[in-house]
Amino acid sequence: MNNRVITSIIVALCCMPVASFAWGPDGHQSVGAIAATLIAGTKAEKKVNSLLEESSLEQVSIWADCVKGISPEKDFTYTSAGKYPECAPFETTAGIAAMAAYVRQNQNNCNAAFDQESCHKQYHYADIAIEHDHYKTGYVGTSDHDIVHAIGSAILVLQGKPQAKPFQFKDQREALMLLTHYVGDLHQPLHVGSIFLNSDGKIVNPDDGQYDRGSNTVGGNALQCPCGNMHALWDDVPAQFKKGRMNQMLSTKAKGVAKTKGALDAWPALWADEAIMNARIVFKDTHFSKSSPNQRGNNWSVALPLEYEKTMYKVKEEALVNAGAHLAQLLQAIWPE
Ligand SMILES: [Zn+2]
Repeated sequence: MNNRVITSIIVALCCMPVASFAWGPDGHQSVGAIAATLIAGTKAEKKVNSLLEESSLEQVSIWADCVKGISPEKDFTYTSAGKYPECAPFETTAGIAAMAAYVRQNQNNCNAAFDQESCHKQYHYADIAIEHDHYKTGYVGTSDHDIVHAIGSAILVLQGKPQAKPFQFKDQREALMLLTHYVGDLHQPLHVGSIFLNSDGKIVNPDDGQYDRGSNTVGGNALQCPCGNMHALWDDVPAQFKKGRMNQMLSTKAKGVAKTKGALDAWPALWADEAIMNARIVFKDTHFSKSSPNQRGNNWSVALPLEYEKTMYKVKEEALVNAGAHLAQLLQAIWPE
């Protein structure tokens, strides 16, 4: 294939519409729907129903993203009204008050560094260098309030135990809404595995010697394809999976996912390890330009290999299936028969 064809494929790939939320609402909703199918008829289903009342796991799966519409700079008012259809169920007076209360409690509780976003936004990810085989607290990109710890804390709340610091989850209902979301995010490879680059676009390991904050690609947010950023490209689900079109097929596959081994509290880190392995596939045969700084830090252009769309489809399908299965496993382990 000549270069022009290759370029046009890359442009076409990167111009696919991308959602502004992690996984996009469709991905999170699929994860909630798959888990709901898998726990049907169990004690876990009864507990979920009693906590969520009239709502479903599918509906509440995006609450953790909807709360980002609360603006601390504007006295914690909700600034996204009507913007995201999937957030509509939470846009009642009581619903907005609950979102604002959550953001107030989880805004500055983690002592965020000057260049980091609000604490509750950091609960959605960890940016670990893909040179590592395993998630380990202490690596650059991890923290006591990263996604692995956030899931751990939500589990504690649902088990009726004291939650971990610095999290401020109000009650079991809130913890369940957050858990449903974070388990989805944990399976999006670029929410866990990241790449660090020097100014020449060469891969560096931030845990090897002095860490240069400028080498952080922020889970692919600092990597630009011709029409957008790499993180958003991976947040979007394939068109076939939109609006839950394939939930039945995904649920059938999810039923075949092996039960995670070991103790429940070690599961989130094991799934993070799988996400790091998938992030290696995300970056296989990619090429990076030299960096060019913008207002938010360094930026690099990324060239993607041929057939990248196929790779994305495969990885994303497996991630959604595993996320749904793993969420169901967690819920059943928290509330065994
Ligand atoms: Zn998220």
